[in-house]
Amino acid sequence: MNIKKIMSGLRNCPCGREHRADLERVEIGRGYIRETGRFLRESGFPDRLLLVADVNTLAAAEGVCEVIASAGFELKKLVYPDFKYARDVNVEEVTALCGDVGGIVSVGSGSLNDICRVPAARLGLPLCIVATAPSMDGFASDTSPILRNSFKETWKAAQPKLIVADTDILAAAPVELKAAGLGDMAAKYIAITDWRISALITGEYYCKNIADMTLDAVSRCLSLAGKLREGDPEAAASVMEGLVMSGLSMKLAGCSRPASGAEHMTSHFLEDYKCLRGIWPEFHGKKVGVATLILAGAYRRIAKEVEAVDAGADPEVPGGLLSHFDPEFRDDIAALNRTPITDIVDPEKVKAGWQDIRKIILDTVPDENFLRERLLAAGGAVTLDEIHTAPGLMKEALRYHAYMRHRLFLTRILPLAGVDLLDYVDLPLKAIPHN
Ligand SMILES: [Zn+2]
Ligand SMILES: [Zn+2]
Repeated sequence: MNIKKIMSGLRNCPCGREHRADLERVEIGRGYIRETGRFLRESGFPDRLLLVADVNTLAAAEGVCEVIASAGFELKKLVYPDFKYARDVNVEEVTALCGDVGGIVSVGSGSLNDICRVPAARLGLPLCIVATAPSMDGFASDTSPILRNSFKETWKAAQPKLIVADTDILAAAPVELKAAGLGDMAAKYIAITDWRISALITGEYYCKNIADMTLDAVSRCLSLAGKLREGDPEAAASVMEGLVMSGLSMKLAGCSRPASGAEHMTSHFLEDYKCLRGIWPEFHGKKVGVATLILAGAYRRIAKEVEAVDAGADPEVPGGLLSHFDPEFRDDIAALNRTPITDIVDPEKVKAGWQDIRKIILDTVPDENFLRERLLAAGGAVTLDEIHTAPGLMKEALRYHAYMRHRLFLTRILPLAGVDLLDYVDLPLKAIPHN
């Protein structure tokens, strides 16, 4: 993956923003785990490094410690037993071990990267990620979702300088993880639709080049769903590239708009609910994929069936907004909505722009049957059963997720337009057996 070429393609971008990234090098290929030491050397990593992994990722990346050591690096190691949640205490653990090292190597995908990204940013240390599964799009991200007292927060973090991915290892990752990566990619259709609609209605910053690059990566990934499931290394390589591209696009845009919209918020709603109750929230991309499927169907039905709207003031939430959130979240939700995002929405623009909104949806969001077929081909989840979510909880998530960020999604505009999202939602309940 040629980062320099991507960056030079974005020079003098018509969006007016100067696109910057800290990510310098991405090496994706067969047997590349054995080259990790060389890549670290060539990327100028200092001699003493902290390696963070868990027993599973270290087993998947077998030999990585020896390879790095044989390139002349001195390794300090932090190896967790089965690591699932990125908590604030883990960030502090990693930070405390960084006093006498010149860089961090994070072996894994997801949470294990998240707890390394923050200390790397705090201490200004170069970070290398050795990916073990193509399971989510956060590899090139510069923020980390961190759990503090069961609350998920977004922490400022460092983008890695180097990403190494051995496609034999990625291809051998569990189907559930690989399919979750695809679910996280499918989300971009909704995210970019929300971004385009907000740009249309509020004049929010938007970069067509970044949106197009992201959507190209998504369609490449989805076209490889079946091969990814079968364990084909080339498919795993392409999907990994797409995932890195998606994370990079957030850094380049300076916001998470290219990668995260109403579908990620819906998933966050479920995650907050479950984490607070000590329930395993499922893999990120698995939930996001199901939320994407539901919203893709609803967005397209709205675009096809709602021919015109008569938009007005933002209506009060029946029963009061806060009653739909756990008491632990209410202060944050109240603060976020004290000056609602809809203050910047002119209902007349929604009314006048409705035909353009419909066109954006139909141009950007693919048919839900296509998405379902692709997720199934990857062995991914497509129903509420599979993400252990009751229909009532999913309906709450669909109704109220848009109040969890100070950001405009189509789902937050609909109440002003007198359109009830739930009228257009078709909840996929029962699991369809994979064949
Ligand atoms: Zn641009
Ligand atoms: Zn995601």
